[in-house]
Amino acid sequence: MDGNVARVFSRLAAVEIPVQDPGAKRLFWGLAEALLPKGRAGDFNQALMELGATVCVPRQPRCPSCPVARFCVAREKGWTARLPIRTPRKALPERREIVALVARGDTLLLRRRPEGGLLGGLWEFPSVPDEGRGGRLLGSFFRLHGLSANPEGSLGAFRHVFTHFRLEVEARTFSAARPGREEAARRWVDAATLDELPVTRLTRRIHEAWKARTLAPLPLFER
Ligand code: SF4
Repeated sequence: MDGNVARVFSRLAAVEIPVQDPGAKRLFWGLAEALLPKGRAGDFNQALMELGATVCVPRQPRCPSCPVARFCVAREKGWTARLPIRTPRKALPERREIVALVARGDTLLLRRRPEGGLLGGLWEFPSVPDEGRGGRLLGSFFRLHGLSANPEGSLGAFRHVFTHFRLEVEARTFSAARPGREEAARRWVDAATLDELPVTRLTRRIHEAWKARTLAPLPLFER
């Protein structure tokens, strides 16, 4: 059920259970069926959605100009501000990772995420979980791929919120001493190619930060 419509029903009938609750949804469907004018389902739906979008808005509903105000229990009880009731969202779990920007000449190392998983098929900078052993895991990742890289610095922390967790990454920069093995899911790409590739949003943001720092014009010498 459309969120606007659920809000209208929850106020009209002063429903004191969270709108996401299956019981509330059943109640709203029952109300819709009871009120539905015969043969005018389309108009009815449209009118309800417009009422929710323009009059029975989430904050400060415009009750004085509402065409169904005289039927509205929430208005009668003075409950319009506390309805609809929503279940508070659970705090999302946090994950931490280290992202490695490994430079080789004017190229950076990218890897492709496995198909079928989260963000499957997109390219990204290599990363490892960081639960206190991130540095060692990164070393293992380099060795696994026959790569050797010297640490250079840090681009700082980046945050990204997924539907099921929050991710905080530290982006570290490296220069490749040995490029490692050729693999289908790993590529060295220059900045222009990276701009064209399908990459994760976080990768795009980190790359922009890297470009801003690395490709910034050198300051002029003072006389
Ligand atoms: S009277 Fe107010 S709270 Fe009730 S349906 Fe209309 S706009 Fe919403």
